[in-house]
Amino acid sequence: MAGPMRRTRPASRVFATRRLLSLAFLLIPLPLLAQTTATERAAARDIVRQIDELQARLDPTGLANELAGRADADRDALVRRTTELWESEMQALSDFIGHNPEVGWEEFLAVDTLTAVLENRGWDVEVGVAGLETAFVATWTSPAGPQGLMLGLIGEYDALRDADGPFHGDQHNAQTPIVFASAFAMAEHMAADGIPGRIRIYGTPAEEVGPPAKVIMHEAGVFDGADILIRSHGVTQTSRAQVGFGSCCLNINEVKYTFLGTPSHQMASWHGRNALAAAVHFFTMVDGIRSTLRPEASIQGVITEGGDAPNVVPQRAVLDYYIRYPDPVYLEHISKMMDDAARGAAMATGTEVEIDRYGEYRDGISLGTLQELSFAYAKELGAPNISPEPSRPSGYEETGVVTKDIPGIGISVFSSRGANHTRGMLEDTFNEVGHTGFRISAEVMSSVLYDFLTRPDLREAIGEEHRTLAGLLDQYHEALREAYASELGGPISQR
Ligand SMILES: [Zn+2]
Repeated sequence: MAGPMRRTRPASRVFATRRLLSLAFLLIPLPLLAQTTATERAAARDIVRQIDELQARLDPTGLANELAGRADADRDALVRRTTELWESEMQALSDFIGHNPEVGWEEFLAVDTLTAVLENRGWDVEVGVAGLETAFVATWTSPAGPQGLMLGLIGEYDALRDADGPFHGDQHNAQTPIVFASAFAMAEHMAADGIPGRIRIYGTPAEEVGPPAKVIMHEAGVFDGADILIRSHGVTQTSRAQVGFGSCCLNINEVKYTFLGTPSHQMASWHGRNALAAAVHFFTMVDGIRSTLRPEASIQGVITEGGDAPNVVPQRAVLDYYIRYPDPVYLEHISKMMDDAARGAAMATGTEVEIDRYGEYRDGISLGTLQELSFAYAKELGAPNISPEPSRPSGYEETGVVTKDIPGIGISVFSSRGANHTRGMLEDTFNEVGHTGFRISAEVMSSVLYDFLTRPDLREAIGEEHRTLAGLLDQYHEALREAYASELGGPISQR
């Protein structure tokens, strides 16, 4: 049927159709940009198609606009109360933490200050969860009973470190006060309306340094039972992430290699086995491996221990590496090559090596339903500096690991003119730019939680999207394993 029409179509229409087709061509592969390399894009092709179909069916933008645009007096009262809590108490709390920066694992004053606020309000507080001194969990149970949903909110508080000491150049000082403004308003709302359920606040330390606290907390079961996890982070643009999976940076393995030799005085060095020599061999071998790795690999390491005295054969030498690649499958290949090299260096020197992978960061899951909802509310509530284009997919927390098990959202509202990790971002954390962004973040947080609590259709869409994407992430990794098969294993004769 289309054939004869095509033949009679006037030239101008053909041109218009072609332009439409090429526009469509430009639009369709957009999600592929989430993948970095040609191999990854090829492996993801079928998965991206399935994500597109899911999005077409769930229509997250339509649902978000309907929810954010509708009149709802209860929600508006909740948002007003959130604003009030931010302005009357939480802004000052954010400034206080901002003026008292503490680096990761040493955030004792911040934790004391924050948990005192929670205890004063009658929350059930547990400090030192998952064996981490500066991690905490606080729970509020509705007077209507605990049965029902559990809303989870994540807040950080660690500072960056530079030559002049610690400073809040990533605005983590504001994160937990934002969570408080939203959670306290939410608790009042649930109590007043007799809604059963629980609200849980997770104080997560040391985002800026390894090992990844959220993975440790997750493995200890700290996040178990949360139906949703919500958080915010200071950013230079109000934005939402594209649906799919990815990480802010790269997939990372953090690995310590400890070589153990035998000490001996230099007068009888033949009794010794030199751990430093092993470490230096290994360090050089890693540079040798680089030439046969894919170019996107990034391997950085230091020797943190190498012996105590020049006249004693070093007994112990330690190397610390960050190994990064855009996808976790090829990353495993790099790690295996390095582990083999470490064992080779140990064998060559008569030493032993202990390999401790103390941290992993992985692709996180980014949900269209929650991204679009949060973005629609940010626009509705007057967030400045809006980025119309979605950013590349990334999970709501930096390790990616938690996002695979629990659906959630990281709210991104403009709060700084300076880039992340700068003195400019620190400056804005104390002024109108930061304060406005933080207030709106809290308001968006309450709005999203309110809809999650009151709209079963939204919860269903989020649940279905999360389950589907978690399954597709596994499929993507399987496709990658196939794609890399010829270059990763087996004897050379069989490749
Ligand atoms: Zn940060």
